[in-house]
Amino acid sequence: MRNNGIGSWPARRARMGPERIAIVHEGRTLSYGELEQRVQQLAHALRSLGVRSGDRVAYLGHNHPSLLETLFAAGILGAVFVPLNTRLAVPELAYILDDSSSSVLVHGPEHAEAARELSERTVIRDRVAVAGGSEGVPGYEDLIANSSSERIDEPVGLEDVCMIMYTSGTTGRPKGAVLTHGNITFNCVNVLIEVDLTADEVTLVSAPMFHTAALNMTCLPTVLKGGRVVITKGFDPEETIDLFTSQRITWMFGVPAMFNALAASPRWEEADVSSLRVLEAGGAPVPESTIETYQKRGLTFLQGYGMTETAPGALFLGAADSVRKSGSAGKSSFFTNVRVVDEDGHDTEPGQPGEIVVAGPNVMRGYWGRPDSTAASFTNDGWFKTGDVATVDEEGYVYVVDRVKDMIISGGENIYPAEVENVLYDHPGVAEVAVIGVPDEKWGETGRAVVVPRQGVEVTAQELIEHCSGRLARYKIPKSVHFADALPRNASGKLLKTQLRQSHGS
Ligand code: ATP
Ligand code: MG
Repeated sequence: MRNNGIGSWPARRARMGPERIAIVHEGRTLSYGELEQRVQQLAHALRSLGVRSGDRVAYLGHNHPSLLETLFAAGILGAVFVPLNTRLAVPELAYILDDSSSSVLVHGPEHAEAARELSERTVIRDRVAVAGGSEGVPGYEDLIANSSSERIDEPVGLEDVCMIMYTSGTTGRPKGAVLTHGNITFNCVNVLIEVDLTADEVTLVSAPMFHTAALNMTCLPTVLKGGRVVITKGFDPEETIDLFTSQRITWMFGVPAMFNALAASPRWEEADVSSLRVLEAGGAPVPESTIETYQKRGLTFLQGYGMTETAPGALFLGAADSVRKSGSAGKSSFFTNVRVVDEDGHDTEPGQPGEIVVAGPNVMRGYWGRPDSTAASFTNDGWFKTGDVATVDEEGYVYVVDRVKDMIISGGENIYPAEVENVLYDHPGVAEVAVIGVPDEKWGETGRAVVVPRQGVEVTAQELIEHCSGRLARYKIPKSVHFADALPRNASGKLLKTQLRQSHGS
């Protein structure tokens, strides 16, 4: 095989065991042999639509096996996969399609209308409908059924581009991280080592597959190892509990909020969790109370920190450390190097905040079409600047503090809003809070809390400021409080502080 990219994985797996089950979806199974045949046929179909090596193929839809198949089929041709966030609005999707100049859009049944609109207003040339199809829009299954299954063997190397994955757009417009086959492969190898995956893995994929975490941390490592991927359209606690029993799930990934929702199910105590080996959480630290709830059922968490640009795994915290090092995101993964540095690029002393920088074979090549942003994101000696602030303890464990862009400098002192927000969240009158910096003649900047009050609870600005005193150093206490009905969030649910600074910052 001349293809060393991830497009070759179904064929390589089929060579080792064609009968093994690769994908389970809505009660139907697909073996590795069947998967390889389908992705070969889909690659022929994409080629008949004009897709060539280097061209971009976008995907818009809820979790479905066709997302993985499209990724592999594009990989067979040396084409580039562009997954789209289903929570984005049409103008946001149009921006990404034009920015990546994608030529083909594969879309799920719920996105037919959006796809039609997008084909009218963007560079998209062809649409493929996963279910149905209509006039002028070929159906995905028809295309596969009518295509040759002869093996295509394009030369594709680890240096070639595999995906352009857009960041969540928390600190600005989403940027396209250019990830090579090597980036993805090394991330998967990191996962295999950290999670100690086996070929008997039955992986539940219910977090959104367009996002780096579900796709690159769970789906692809499972396929590389020859395990089984159980795909659900989205996350539902009751369905998850049913699948634990019916599919004998061995591991799953989720953000802490998903694990909290699962444990809040009335059926949680009776749920059969005997097949689960490990749970993996990322995006934010798992609260200790959640760790305890799961420990009662004999379950532990592996935690991680990463980002789209690092494909994504950078730090891992093993289950054995989850209580002892509570709040930490762990240590560098096997092939990845993580440091916390000061402004001069020197490693910080234990406990001193600095920026997290990452190097290694999983780090992206750069941002698509943005040489300036790319140059600004790497140090002169090639470390990727994450934009996240952290401290490191004596034993080398990293604690993520906040984003550099959100830091407030007041009278020469750094304030990390996340620390202040955590204190305010302890007040019963606070449903949601964000702390931002506002200009101040004397101090340069001071903190302002923007608070969404909890329904039915009376709360005043004075009360909240008093709540902070004694709990926080004086300079960290917000000088003013604004009340709001809601806080602006992006499609991933992350707080948009830039927008908040515009509406509440003066
Ligand atoms: P954009 O780069 O467009 O502003 P984004 O950074 O939110 O958006 P992602 O790549 O989806 O886009 O998210 C990565 C970020 O999520 C990290 O840089 C970090 O700020 C945060 N993050 C990820 N894992 C953790 C964790 N375990 N603890 C704290 N923060 C985390
Ligand atoms: Mg980012």
